[in-house]
Amino acid sequence: MSIRYEQQMVLAMLKLYCQKKHGTAKGKLCDECAQLQSYAHSRLDKCPFGDDKSTCKQCAIHCYKPQLREQISQVMRYAGPRMLYHHPLMSLKHLFKETFSKR
Ligand code: SF4
Ligand SMILES: [Zn+2]
Repeated sequence: MSIRYEQQMVLAMLKLYCQKKHGTAKGKLCDECAQLQSYAHSRLDKCPFGDDKSTCKQCAIHCYKPQLREQISQVMRYAGPRMLYHHPLMSLKHLFKETFSKR
């Protein structure tokens, strides 16, 4: 699964989260979530594992700053289960990767 794909997944999850938790219009991001998205995208761009990476949840390095890591974890906890409904193919690929990845 490519870095680009992971970035799309983060964006989709943030949009779900932001709409529900921050009352933002569907498909948009508030300033705080846009900043988090930009941070997550830059981390993924610099990920040392490249396109061979596992999910960030399983990563031994955890390159996020602690506060931002907590913020993104909250988003994942909320949006993860809902992704199955909104983006079933995306979430199944992600689940497959978590289950069968070696790292
Ligand atoms: S947490 Fe790990 S897998 Fe995720 S971007 Fe950072 S180094 Fe890569
Ligand atoms: Zn938001």
